[in-house]
Amino acid sequence: MAEAGWQRSLYDETYEGGWLEEIRTEVFKAAKGRCVLCSVFQPRTLDHFLPKESWPSLSVLTLNLVAACADCNRIKGTLANASPGQQFVHPYFDAVPMNEVFLHCSPVKDGVMSPGFSIEPCAGMDNDLLARLRWQFDTLELDEMYRDEAMLFFGERKDDWRESAEIDWVTLARQIERECSSAAKATGRNMWKPAFLQGLLDCPSFGASPLTFLGQ
Ligand SMILES: [Zn+2]
Repeated sequence: MAEAGWQRSLYDETYEGGWLEEIRTEVFKAAKGRCVLCSVFQPRTLDHFLPKESWPSLSVLTLNLVAACADCNRIKGTLANASPGQQFVHPYFDAVPMNEVFLHCSPVKDGVMSPGFSIEPCAGMDNDLLARLRWQFDTLELDEMYRDEAMLFFGERKDDWRESAEIDWVTLARQIERECSSAAKATGRNMWKPAFLQGLLDCPSFGASPLTFLGQ
């Protein structure tokens, strides 16, 4: 096991000033400023997809390193050895159909703005991947995280949207459509912001009476 200890300790060399520092830099660069697991927060840690304690020889393998925020890393860290149906989706190896929409949002609940998010089947996604995506979504409590982000965003956009809503729904819908497509362009479609905006466009109660939600 002396060898395993040596392999694991290689990881220390990825910190600033170490001779493997470039590995850390490259993995962060590839994440483009977002935690690979939640896509919301800045990644400040490296998560080992397969924990280095059990797979020491993978401790500095770039394909085993995932740029993650501290929260996601903490939650995932304790669960990496779970059963086959309860495994995280590998950010590099699992073929998640990125051109299809699988993150959906239902923005209104019981007549008030309270966005709920869910993962739904789409073309190119088999049942195994769907189950794992849903398990990961629940485990990382992304529904709650996305709801908080969407509510903050809704608060910021409210005044502006109200002005459009006062003209008519078509004006507001066009504005939300534009914001939705530019958000999707920036982050991909399966992120809370485009999902929330599309949810608003598809929501009959919001469309019927947007000013109820935006304030008179
Ligand atoms: Zn995260």
